[in-house]
Amino acid sequence: MPSLTCGCGEILHYGEIPCPNEWLFISDVEFDKFSGAVDAEEIYKAMKSLIKCGRCGTMWFFWNGFQAEPQQYVPQPKWHLSNQKNNELKTRKKMMG
Ligand SMILES: [Zn+2]
Repeated sequence: MPSLTCGCGEILHYGEIPCPNEWLFISDVEFDKFSGAVDAEEIYKAMKSLIKCGRCGTMWFFWNGFQAEPQQYVPQPKWHLSNQKNNELKTRKKMMG
């Protein structure tokens, strides 16, 4: 069964059907090519897969199929967004005098 080892040490298997670790995604442009009644198998073929680690939340995107190396996306803490808002507020206060 194919698997990958996450940065946190968790071993993520992705050969099961259906696979509990696997998520499917499609770009809006690709999805827009479908219309009306669609064969689920056709949409499935157009979608790409990501594997999500249940332990740390890291997502492994297989942009180019399972034969190529996946790209790793690690969740960031929310403070980054609140920092951004604080900076915007400071900028607005400066502009208002
Ligand atoms: Zn992990």
